[in-house]
Amino acid sequence: RRQKRDRLLALLERTAAYYVRVLWESPEAEDARAYLQSRGLQEGALRAFRVGFAPDTWDRVVLGSRRAGYGEGELVAAGLASRSSRGTLIDRFRGRITFPLADERGRVLGFGARAMKPDDKPKYLNTSENDLFHKGRIVYGADLARAAAAKAGRVVLVEGYTDVIALHQAGVPEVVAQMGTALTDAQVDAIARLAPKALFCQDPDRAGQESVAKGIASLRTHNKGRSTRAVEFKIVRLPLGEDPADVVQKSGADEMRALLEKAIPIERFEVERALEQRDASTDEMLAAVKPIIASMRPTILRDQLVELIANKFSMTSNMVNELLQAPAT
Ligand code: ATP
Ligand code: MN
Ligand code: MN
Ligand code: MN
Repeated sequence: RRQKRDRLLALLERTAAYYVRVLWESPEAEDARAYLQSRGLQEGALRAFRVGFAPDTWDRVVLGSRRAGYGEGELVAAGLASRSSRGTLIDRFRGRITFPLADERGRVLGFGARAMKPDDKPKYLNTSENDLFHKGRIVYGADLARAAAAKAGRVVLVEGYTDVIALHQAGVPEVVAQMGTALTDAQVDAIARLAPKALFCQDPDRAGQESVAKGIASLRTHNKGRSTRAVEFKIVRLPLGEDPADVVQKSGADEMRALLEKAIPIERFEVERALEQRDASTDEMLAAVKPIIASMRPTILRDQLVELIANKFSMTSNMVNELLQAPAT
């Protein structure tokens, strides 16, 4: 069994190395190189993350792996190939930029692969779940972030591959991504293993903000567990329409790092969010902020938030305090 698993790991490793060679050495990858450059991603960072290119052919990986002694069953088990309707084995990743997905020790378990053209769907194609690869257990970049996170005492959590690579390149190596979807419990645990503090830096769009809301809930649950290491976390707000990779490319590394340093406490994030609801009435907004303020101890932050609410509704802080203390109707 062990031997079987080791062979699959070796197959994934050599495939990752093959994709890297194709990206940097093959004329087939010219467009991919130009694309990555147009995104402002530099060779050094791309090499650190072993980003590669899967050539746009049907069976290059199948043929090369077969020649190296791997069986068809192993190619399928590793998630690298599948059987076509005609019974031949074809590569899963074709004409895509590849991001190896590794465990905390850096062992490649699968790939995320990005299409080159906007009309190529899906934009990202992953290895499908198999005995070795479970996307929900992987935190992208954890292997590379570990030492930096321990040193910095914090980890930055972004959504995607390009965000991780852009931040790494911008001098923030303590960065990982949950890869789009909502944070899983396993990912929360992995983050807690990296550092006692986390900065939530998700995309400033609806999906990203929902991910923050869900992430706050998951982290609170995690922190209530007695056997686990608690994570203290804050929220980073980004300019509208720009994810971390966009900020680094458009505004530069210094601006991105400055935004990280401006991270706000969860309570402020929640109050600001409630006050920004465009279609909510004053009563609805007050009802939304009430439990947040009520759960807070008397701190400067609490005073600041009460003042924020007061300003929003042209009231005095005393009026807000009274309103918030009134029993719910
Ligand atoms: P880019 O990665 O080119 O900057 P983007 O910022 O628009 O594109 P998002 O849609 O924000 O990417 O996705 C963030 C992350 O979510 C991706 O890096 C990937 O890990 C994951 N993801 C997005 N779409 C998919 C998908 N269709 N299948 C699986 N994972 C996805
Ligand atoms: Mn997104
Ligand atoms: Mn994004
Ligand atoms: Mn992006």
